[in-house]
Amino acid sequence: MSIGEDVLWTIEDALQKHHRTEYIQTMRAMIFEKAGQPLRLAELPTPHPGAGQVLIRVRACAACRTDLHVVDGELTQPKLPLIPGHEIVGTVEQKGAGVERFKIGDRVGVPWLGWTCGVCAFCFAGRENLCDQARFTGYTVDGGYADYTIADQCFCFSIPDFYNDTEAAPLMCAGLIGYRSLVKAGEGKRLGIYGFGAAAHIVAQVAKHQKREIYAFTRQGDDEAKKFAVTLGAAWAGGSNQLPPVKLDAAIIFAPAGDLVPQALRAVNKGGIVVCGGIHMSDIPSFPYSILWEERAVCSVANLTRRDGEEFLALAPRVPVRTEVQAFPLQEANEALARLRSGRIQGAAVLVTD
Ligand SMILES: [Zn+2]
Ligand SMILES: [Zn+2]
Repeated sequence: MSIGEDVLWTIEDALQKHHRTEYIQTMRAMIFEKAGQPLRLAELPTPHPGAGQVLIRVRACAACRTDLHVVDGELTQPKLPLIPGHEIVGTVEQKGAGVERFKIGDRVGVPWLGWTCGVCAFCFAGRENLCDQARFTGYTVDGGYADYTIADQCFCFSIPDFYNDTEAAPLMCAGLIGYRSLVKAGEGKRLGIYGFGAAAHIVAQVAKHQKREIYAFTRQGDDEAKKFAVTLGAAWAGGSNQLPPVKLDAAIIFAPAGDLVPQALRAVNKGGIVVCGGIHMSDIPSFPYSILWEERAVCSVANLTRRDGEEFLALAPRVPVRTEVQAFPLQEANEALARLRSGRIQGAAVLVTD
């Protein structure tokens, strides 16, 4: 190769790079503008990472029930307009000032907890999930229903190599919040799970690995969900209005239906606990004190801590947790959400960008 050709090649390469730089200045995003309206596909400027932030090329973003609560107006404080999505897996494309935790090209995951203040009483006590100033991905800051997103480096996780991008996405919330719910449920052997969606299908695998017995409660008449629960190792699967054949030590409710709380209290033994794993639930009907008495407890799980994330992502490949996913192109986010709303997703719905 002559010197002249070499130079020519270099210029052409530089032009191509330049072209690529131009290209990434805009991105596709699915935008939430008003409750009850479908998300709108828009072309937006690609954001720039600020100090301590990374720009992430989103590869996959799972659709969570919380996203439904946002678009349906049940969670009333979203940033507007908003890019939803808080189960993000992608690669670091650019680093803001001071970013040391990750290199360009590293694969990272972004969860619901997007930022905490670090100085309030809850943060000091290691309960950053309850931080007074917390920011939430895909709710109070933009999330991952887009080609690119911005995240604080301190709130990103490394993704185990065991998973591809699409498989890993549901770990970011269904996995993490499911794991936090399981820890809250205590050590009891007999565990009930109400609502057999994305979180339940992950929790069931972890619980089975811990040698627990799973009792799965599904929507009445949903035989597919029952079968799915049994394939994941449930000892028993029935309708949510049924009582299990034995008293349970604990129950986790992932379905957003308040009438499941008294149902679950009736199913747990003395001293048992009912954990509500969702961010929103319809009103809980009144119930007789006798089903709470004998030291039964009801509690909720709010958000996650980074420690939950580190623990769960270390555990998941050892179980190994396998996620069942249904992939949708980014622009079909509305269809993915509609199927999730009507219970037509087995496992988790995941939006993919290419
Ligand atoms: Zn705080
Ligand atoms: Zn979620």
